[in-house]
Amino acid sequence: MAGSGYPRGMAQHPPATGRSPAQVPTPRQPLHGWGRYPVIEARYRCGEDLERLTRNAQLSRGLGRAYGDAALPPPGSGRLVAGTTRADRILGFDPDSGILSAEAGFSLAELGRLFLPRGWFTPVSPGTRYVTLGGMVASDIHGKNHHVKGTFGNYVRRLRMRLGSGKVLDVTPESHPDLFWATCGGQGLTGHVLEVDVQLEKLPSPWLYEETQRYGSLQAVFDALTEESARWPMTVAWIDTSAPGDALGRGIVMAGRWATPDEAPKEPPTDNPALTVPPIFPSGVMNPMTVRAMNALWYAKHPRSRVKHVVKPASFYWILDLAREWNRGYGKRGFTQFQCVMPSSVELYREFLARFRALGGCSFITVFKDCGPMGKGHLSFPQRGTSLALDIPIFPGVERLARELNAFVIANGGRIYLSKDAFTTEAEFRAMYPRFEEFQEVRRRYDPELRIQSALSRRLMGDG
Ligand SMILES: Cc1cc2nc3c(=O)[nH]c(=O)nc-3n(C[C@H](O)[C@H](O)[C@H](O)COP(=O)(O)OP(=O)(O)OC[C@H]3O[C@@H](n4cnc5c(N)ncnc54)[C@H](O)[C@@H]3O)c2cc1C
Repeated sequence: MAGSGYPRGMAQHPPATGRSPAQVPTPRQPLHGWGRYPVIEARYRCGEDLERLTRNAQLSRGLGRAYGDAALPPPGSGRLVAGTTRADRILGFDPDSGILSAEAGFSLAELGRLFLPRGWFTPVSPGTRYVTLGGMVASDIHGKNHHVKGTFGNYVRRLRMRLGSGKVLDVTPESHPDLFWATCGGQGLTGHVLEVDVQLEKLPSPWLYEETQRYGSLQAVFDALTEESARWPMTVAWIDTSAPGDALGRGIVMAGRWATPDEAPKEPPTDNPALTVPPIFPSGVMNPMTVRAMNALWYAKHPRSRVKHVVKPASFYWILDLAREWNRGYGKRGFTQFQCVMPSSVELYREFLARFRALGGCSFITVFKDCGPMGKGHLSFPQRGTSLALDIPIFPGVERLARELNAFVIANGGRIYLSKDAFTTEAEFRAMYPRFEEFQEVRRRYDPELRIQSALSRRLMGDG
């Protein structure tokens, strides 16, 4: 099955020329991640035949939803970035085992469109459906159910990969455990993923049952998140980082599970209508004053009493997808996401938020998530504790903010999520990811010349 379900204009496809890809010189074009920072000139080409396209590529790139520089080539490198979004065929589905086999550019949007009405879905989903299977593997993504299901890598059964050495290899957790677990969360640096076999989950219905409740303080949000996570398979909280005094960190806690057939409407859910944000916003529109107003409005909008309802997966999992290209709201300067995980302590996070504000930070989309135990991926992000994600407009003090917040995270045994990052230094990264040397050994075993590199690996891993 060819043709992907993501909206037109989401992927960057080269113009059709009628010539074979090998004949078409690939011009350089500016590429960036979802945060629109940094921007790097790159030779970028999409193709349907990933085995061929990746032969001379330095890096693979999916739908570009990593926020920082994970899906960008090293600056000035001149080698090809392979765009996977046209390699989006389903290769097979076995309804007895629930295993879906697809090309790496197959998107979660398409997976949901085809499989949700038939009662199947991936056990783990990120907060947007405009991601590819390859990108989900490379980030070892986690979702609102991390505390019960862990990361995406737990459900991957096989990868077909082109290694940096040029070899094409089938990789399973049994055949090559070192390569498999370095690849889950390895930010595309262990090889190009060509195909993915993933275990889908049989659902009671394609609808979700959700309960949400507003709380007036960080302590109350924290307590509620802990309580709800003991009872519900999916939990998350939004918090207000601008509220004054004791209200700092007030928020809304959301808990959910798949709806039973009795609760669910008879028809499968239809798609939500979506708006596309136009590219008209100057940098600086998102600033502490406007963000404070947006935070206050979002908090006030939620009813005081508990809300209980059956909702579409899009309204629960991918609420941000309702406004397409919403990253344009941050203007040309863009934004960065600082996502960290630290021990679950309300005092710790109160101090963290106070420092964040004192250093000039502001954030509208601010998400708390309780995490379960660490996964098997060498560079996989989640570990037991609470994760906080802040969307921070790029401003002159952002480097200093990142240094201070990273120092706080390291001092408390935490780490930041590489798929969101653009500002961490090599020393900070090494302090956060103790398994890095092990990862690097595996990387060199399958790619001795380190031919696969990214802007992120240059920044964090000493690649030259
Ligand atoms: C609104 C929003 C919400 C998000 N919510 C979450 C969340 O809840 N949980 C979470 O874990 N993440 C979340 N993310 C991050 C996102 O899920 C990951 O960054 C994911 O990797 C993006 O997939 P992509 O196809 O866009 O990959 P890209 O952004 O294009 O690439 C990301 C990484 O994957 C590598 N890669 C891509 N394809 C391949 C391939 N075929 N072979 C080898 N490497 C490849 C790239 O080199 C790069 O290192 C969110 C992102 C956004 C924008």
